[in-house]
Amino acid sequence: MAVPKRRISRSRRGNRRAHNAKPALQLVACSHCGTNIRPHHICPQCGHYRGKQVTVGASA
Ligand SMILES: [Zn+2]
Repeated sequence: MAVPKRRISRSRRGNRRAHNAKPALQLVACSHCGTNIRPHHICPQCGHYRGKQVTVGASA
């Protein structure tokens, strides 16, 4: 099995991990009720998607 020849220094390890951060969640306003929702998802508040009610049970 291949084994690293040298130990990765703290600085090099940190430089690599500098790109690993998870981006902040993108939120857009629901076109029906105005709450912040994730884009391309059904609104959990009112159950609307692209201007139409798409779930049963969720209140208007
Ligand atoms: Zn909504």
